[in-house]
Amino acid sequence: MNINTNYENLEQSYLFSTIAKKVNEYIQKNPDKKVIRLGIGDVTLPLCKAVTDALHKAVDEMGVQSTFRGYGPEQGYDFLREAVQGYYKSHNVELELDEIFISDGAKSDLGNILDLFGINNTVLVPDPVYPVYVDTNIMAGREVKFIDANGDNEFLPLPDKNVKADVIYICSPNNPTGAVYNKEQLKMWVEYALANNAVILFDSAYECFISDKNLPRSIYEIEGAKDCAIEFCSLSKTAGFTGTRCGYTIVPKNLGKLNKMWVRRQTTKFNGVPYIVQRAAEAVFTEEGQKEIEENISYYKENAKLISDTLKECNIWHVGGKHSPYIWLKCPNNMKSWEFFDYLLENAQVVGTPGAGFGKNGEGYFRLTSFGSKENTIEAMWRFKKLFNE
Ligand SMILES: *Cc1c(COP(=O)(O)O)cnc(C)c1O
Repeated sequence: MNINTNYENLEQSYLFSTIAKKVNEYIQKNPDKKVIRLGIGDVTLPLCKAVTDALHKAVDEMGVQSTFRGYGPEQGYDFLREAVQGYYKSHNVELELDEIFISDGAKSDLGNILDLFGINNTVLVPDPVYPVYVDTNIMAGREVKFIDANGDNEFLPLPDKNVKADVIYICSPNNPTGAVYNKEQLKMWVEYALANNAVILFDSAYECFISDKNLPRSIYEIEGAKDCAIEFCSLSKTAGFTGTRCGYTIVPKNLGKLNKMWVRRQTTKFNGVPYIVQRAAEAVFTEEGQKEIEENISYYKENAKLISDTLKECNIWHVGGKHSPYIWLKCPNNMKSWEFFDYLLENAQVVGTPGAGFGKNGEGYFRLTSFGSKENTIEAMWRFKKLFNE
């Protein structure tokens, strides 16, 4: 047998292991110091009551002959697809039920979707970036081109007519930068994709953090997007489903063969999300569920605002923090990402994520997240002020 040698082209990532190692060494040497982690990339608040109630009920159903369920539809149960359809409708996006596919999360489908595309497509990915977009394409042996996100474009790159691409990744609100595209900017991408016969893979995992009604939560709020975009969303950040696993992928029928091909791909390689999880996901979209998750999102957003306000006071340039749990700051005094990491750990005992770990344009930047506790975020920001504002 031959192995897939494309795996040899993957870059090793030591980002999170190096962070863990440095923090552990610091704690060993300074056991009396309290280290605060603002690098957390996972939610920390528990599932809301509407969700756990639905889970309990579904578990009980599974233990009774008359309500037991075996294999479900690969694309998801209608009750959940209808709930997702209703959610989109509340943002003025009309979707047909057979354009909605229930998934076990956005990450899997962002990788799986590549089954539909030929090997010779040119893939365009912003730098800095969520590593999944790059690595899944490298594994398949596809060429990846990067488009620069940087301070000049406030980390929101726009299409360049001289660059030809077939598959384009956009994540808004963005991980790692927290930057969010407005409708005019997204419209430029949609027009570019239509003109180039390209497809946009739109990652809207953080849409629930958008609080400005004028900012797009879905790419389908842009005219023409159903002719060129596939959207990936997830309940991971929305409703704390990182460990429960449920998301949804929209493949519009206007995309020609792609919708039918995706049905074929899913029915062949996927057997659906567990019934109990789909009932839990359905509960997220109920009035009660929406109210409860909103409280959790607000909690994170207050942390984000506190971080952003503090950085402003300290005159530290940053994007994000408003419609996103992420804050992306320029390291003070022109420090490099890892240099700032060490400086912050040593002098404020605050841990974040070096921007250099997300791509070459991340060098000199640093990511903080709002997924920590309120108390810790307050304490960390107090330490920032002492360090940078005195
Ligand atoms: C967290 C995250 C997701 C969600 O992934 P799941 O597999 O649904 O948990 C997707 N995209 C980005 C950019 C993320 O940060």
